[in-house]
Amino acid sequence: APVIGVLALQGGVAEHLAALDRSGAVAKPVRRPEELADLHGVVLPGGESTTMSRLLHSFELFEPLRERLAAGLPAYGSCAGMVLLADDVPGAAEAGVTPLGALDMTVRRNAFGRQVDSFEADLDFTGVAGPVHAVFIRAPWVERIGPGVQVLAEVTPRGSGDQPAAGRIVAVQQGRVLATSFHPELVRGDERVHRHFVHTVRAG
Ligand code: GLN
Repeated sequence: APVIGVLALQGGVAEHLAALDRSGAVAKPVRRPEELADLHGVVLPGGESTTMSRLLHSFELFEPLRERLAAGLPAYGSCAGMVLLADDVPGAAEAGVTPLGALDMTVRRNAFGRQVDSFEADLDFTGVAGPVHAVFIRAPWVERIGPGVQVLAEVTPRGSGDQPAAGRIVAVQQGRVLATSFHPELVRGDERVHRHFVHTVRAG
């Protein structure tokens, strides 16, 4: 079974470990650079990208993780993890966010606005059969994707007045790197997105 690490500095670590466990992977928390060595894949959980960035640097994990990702380590980021995997995050420097640059995309933090702090939606998700129940919490969205990036899911936020809102990209994949704006790890009893990632790791 593939060994998949979960970055365990902050955020929804336990939920990802449990979901990976139920998806046929050997899941282990990662807090130290040497724990990256035997991984076949890594998950960056949701939480707060500013805090996680700060901790990545103080635990001296940022550069080793960036290098493993650049060398092709498969990765999955949910919510704040999506922000960290991006190569472009508007306002990142001001916010103290240092993205890892593993996915050719622009990600806007807290994109759905303050009024819609959190919401849920059922989405079509490429590679997963049937609708996926998606939980969004101060979620980012993807504003730009590079030529090698595939859109896996979009959501249409509720528009104001008669202006129909545009579809927003909330799940993407580039090679063996996956990111979602939402939190599949919070939906108990449905590991389909994690299974999709484990399958992607295995497919290498
Ligand atoms: N808004 C958070 C950030 O930008 C993400 C929220 C989450 O992961 N639920 O880091």
